[in-house]
Amino acid sequence: MIPIKFKGSEKETVHELYHKLLDVSNQKDKKGYITHIKSINAWCLNNICINGHSFTFPEIIKADYDTLCEIAQKYGKGMPEMSDQDKKFMIEYLYNQRFSVIRKEFSDKLEMKVCPYCNRNFVNSASNRTICDLDHFLTKKYPVMAVSFYNLVPVCHSCNHVKSTEKISYSPHNKKYNTDDLLTERPLSPQQSWGE
Ligand SMILES: [Zn+2]
Repeated sequence: MIPIKFKGSEKETVHELYHKLLDVSNQKDKKGYITHIKSINAWCLNNICINGHSFTFPEIIKADYDTLCEIAQKYGKGMPEMSDQDKKFMIEYLYNQRFSVIRKEFSDKLEMKVCPYCNRNFVNSASNRTICDLDHFLTKKYPVMAVSFYNLVPVCHSCNHVKSTEKISYSPHNKKYNTDDLLTERPLSPQQSWGE
């Protein structure tokens, strides 16, 4: 597995992408849109608290990999449910529609040409087309993280298909591992290597 790096200033890039993702200017129903965002923000403040710090929705979107893992670890089994309406807005609107608008830009801002899971298939953009899928490293069990940049990994179609049935234990966003560690991830046990 190859670690993912952002091109240039990571913080600025994430900030820029965040503004594009939530951009209110092209919304037909600005008031309704703002009401949804406020509702999710209130849910975050009421439900996500680590070491006395309550998280806002923008903080969740921009949170680094370690923070997302800390949250997932704390709430892994007991994350309070979001209302169906907020969940639907997160997945069907913010992720499926809004993120698809910035998906090409997001993958273009990353130092990567091939899928970080298989190190084989190309995931960079061909002209205006994006040829990658996006994998949610922390699954949709955490709908609030559906558009968190450090939870999204551009991958090839085959790996995304495999990942949906199998848990991959390292995220390429995890800065603690270098390439060598990641290459030796999940060695096969003797039984597995003999296909038993
Ligand atoms: Zn792949």
